[in-house]
Amino acid sequence: MFLQSLHLKQFRNYGDQAVEFLAPKTILLGENAQGKSNLLEAVELLATLKSHRTRRDRDLVQTDLATAQIRASLKRELGVSALQLTLRSGSRRTASVNGETLRRQQDFLGHLNAVQFSCLDLDLVRGGPGRRRTWTDTLLMQLEPVYVHILQQYGQVLKQSNALIKQQAKQSTDEPAPQLDPTQLALWDAQLATLGTRVIRRRARMLRRLAPIAQTWHRAISGSAEQLEIRYSPNVDVDSDDAGQIQQAFLDKLQTRAMAEYYQRTTLVGPHRDDISFLIDDTPARQYGSQGQQRTLVLALKLSELQLIEEVVGEPPLLLLDDVLAELDLNRQNQLLDTIQDRFQTLITTTHLGSFDAQWLKLSQVLQVKNGCLTTP
Ligand code: ATP
Ligand code: MG
Repeated sequence: MFLQSLHLKQFRNYGDQAVEFLAPKTILLGENAQGKSNLLEAVELLATLKSHRTRRDRDLVQTDLATAQIRASLKRELGVSALQLTLRSGSRRTASVNGETLRRQQDFLGHLNAVQFSCLDLDLVRGGPGRRRTWTDTLLMQLEPVYVHILQQYGQVLKQSNALIKQQAKQSTDEPAPQLDPTQLALWDAQLATLGTRVIRRRARMLRRLAPIAQTWHRAISGSAEQLEIRYSPNVDVDSDDAGQIQQAFLDKLQTRAMAEYYQRTTLVGPHRDDISFLIDDTPARQYGSQGQQRTLVLALKLSELQLIEEVVGEPPLLLLDDVLAELDLNRQNQLLDTIQDRFQTLITTTHLGSFDAQWLKLSQVLQVKNGCLTTP
């Protein structure tokens, strides 16, 4: 797929700026705080409806204004489509495709696919489990947009389940033993298990597919015999893909943890407590990996995201590289550039062109970013 043009209105520090992309690679060149990452963020929003920098639309709309707009023209094998996202500081967003406003925002997903790679992604290895769950979920949303709906439903039931546990704990603070309402709890448990199982199975399936791709990339980049293993560590143990079996394991665990949930006043069982482990030669990369090993691992993950999206969607996604090339050593830089070639449209931010290969620069479109304006240098 190819992003032909982008038009930002009152988005972050862009007042009214249109841009046409003319080459498979675009380099956004500019000093700090000029709007380079803001532009990538706009593309990220088109791909995922989320920004990794904020959860509030108010931050995305230009200060003191009410609305922002991101418009794009995207070329795919089946034709060109016009995407539009309107963000409001005080109310809900609207999304439209080819001039038609969508009733369900999840229908906006799947038009534009992108993989984002910034130095923040090192947190994938070093950060807490939540960071890895978000990564898994964001990738899944692009692969199967219906996953957004599944995750939302699970989130709602989880919220209600938590409220119920809290309420019961409050009711019986004077009692020596907890007074659980068995029928009501059983009802929520059944819902949690059903919806949770959907989340678990999809995560497990995706990671099973991603793992061998990442392993191949990891071997190629590290140039060594080190073996990468991506292991899904679900909170509810699953040894099969059978929905019935997972649901049963879920319900069993809910039962054994019921007292603990009561005392901790929160739901302790379910995919909101999942983790994903990265092991290099059987050793957790999180605690023991050197910085270089962690970098290699993240690069391997990003390359496998690109490849998996391409396999599932049938077209190469965009690659958004935010300040990341300079962070990689020459060997890994080349590995990444060799892979990208002209296969993936790539937007790259940088503060200086010095670190780029001359041959490579000749084939790229360079845009100067200054105070929310784009010019050709
Ligand atoms: P760096 O090289 O440091 O990463 P950058 O070019 O990527 O810089 P951005 O993060 O894209 O910088 O842009 C930051 C600028 O955008 C800041 O000056 C900030 O004040 C401005 N900005 C962010 N949000 C808004 C907003 N809602 N309204 C107006 N300006 C904003
Ligand atoms: Mg930036």
